[in-house]
Amino acid sequence: MTLKFFTETLEQLQQQGQFRQIPHLQHQGKWIVRDGRKMLNMSSNDYLGLASNDLLQQQFLQKFAENLPHFTSSSSRLLTGSFEIYSQFEQLLAQRFQRQAALLFNSGYHANIGILPAVANKKTLIVADKLVHASLIDGIRLSEAEFVRYRHNDMQHLADILAKKHRTFERIIIVTESVFSMDGDCADLSALIAFKCQFDNVMLYVDEAHAIGVLGETGLGLAEQLGCIADIDFLVGTFGKALASMGAYLVCEQVIRDYLVNKMRPLIFSTALPPFNVAWSYFLFDQLHALTQPRQHLAQLSQHLRQALVDMQCEMPSSTHIVPYILGDNHLTVKTAQHLQQQGYYCLPIRPPTVPKGTSRIRLSLTADMTAEELEQFIDCLRREIK
Ligand SMILES: *Cc1c(COP(=O)(O)O)cnc(C)c1O
Repeated sequence: MTLKFFTETLEQLQQQGQFRQIPHLQHQGKWIVRDGRKMLNMSSNDYLGLASNDLLQQQFLQKFAENLPHFTSSSSRLLTGSFEIYSQFEQLLAQRFQRQAALLFNSGYHANIGILPAVANKKTLIVADKLVHASLIDGIRLSEAEFVRYRHNDMQHLADILAKKHRTFERIIIVTESVFSMDGDCADLSALIAFKCQFDNVMLYVDEAHAIGVLGETGLGLAEQLGCIADIDFLVGTFGKALASMGAYLVCEQVIRDYLVNKMRPLIFSTALPPFNVAWSYFLFDQLHALTQPRQHLAQLSQHLRQALVDMQCEMPSSTHIVPYILGDNHLTVKTAQHLQQQGYYCLPIRPPTVPKGTSRIRLSLTADMTAEELEQFIDCLRREIK
């Protein structure tokens, strides 16, 4: 029968401990309720704790009073879906990043599957870090470019590839995340930028999904922290994580923005985000520079959790708020996550193909609305688990 293939595939996934389901959840601030159990959310992307900040939501609604922005754009921005708030926000972004231009997208996924196919062609080589996010891989696959991956953060490997290939291609685009989503380690942006000086046909694409809001003096990401915003050709980030909204941005040169408006299919052929949503992103991004207190608190919590895991002899690639507890085996990871959930911590197992085989893990992510005491209790619980 025609369904046999699908049931068999699902059974296989079940046997491998890789079967996925969408959970039923209720949200109460930093807690999550699942199957009647209230748990501290240890898997959130709401890094600054803005998503459950009622005061911000009230301020936002009061600002507009009866004049709420539209709840739909009803069209692509290139037709009738263009609203003033879009260009106002793009101007704010360009100004804060001190770059020529910015462009908004419906999500980080849209950005990554849209920009690369638009800017790369048959004469382009895309060289990506082995661990880049699925959305970047999909973008690369949709493009006509040739594609090579370098070993994770291995600058020598990348240098070898560039030396060998740079004459064969018109353009080479190096693609990386700034903070890696599963290991919480950082790309060596300075080394990547150095390649742009060494080879004149190299461009740099950096996805700051997990760093925007969290890193940098004013929260603009790892590129701000390292003082290299101006050196990145395609600087991408999302509003869905620390910025507690939905959508994504690119900051770039004006000519790149003009080009994408003409060539980028997810921008041209999809209904633009609701102006209401863009206004909310604007409202939060506008205050980002002032959120130094939650950023510092998050950095302290993260440092403490990483050190605790190192003390428990755990492998620790992370230098950020994303802290993997790597167990290796799929089933053991699932069991440990369940056990932690029973003790009141919403921990989730991450398995292949999301991470390389044999590196299944619990991806702990911290948020600024957790207290030091809550983290300490969690660490005690983890200690008992590891013994
Ligand atoms: C989450 C994520 C995305 C996708 O962003 P969305 O706005 O959720 O679509 C892209 N890149 C990376 C590295 C991510 O972690």
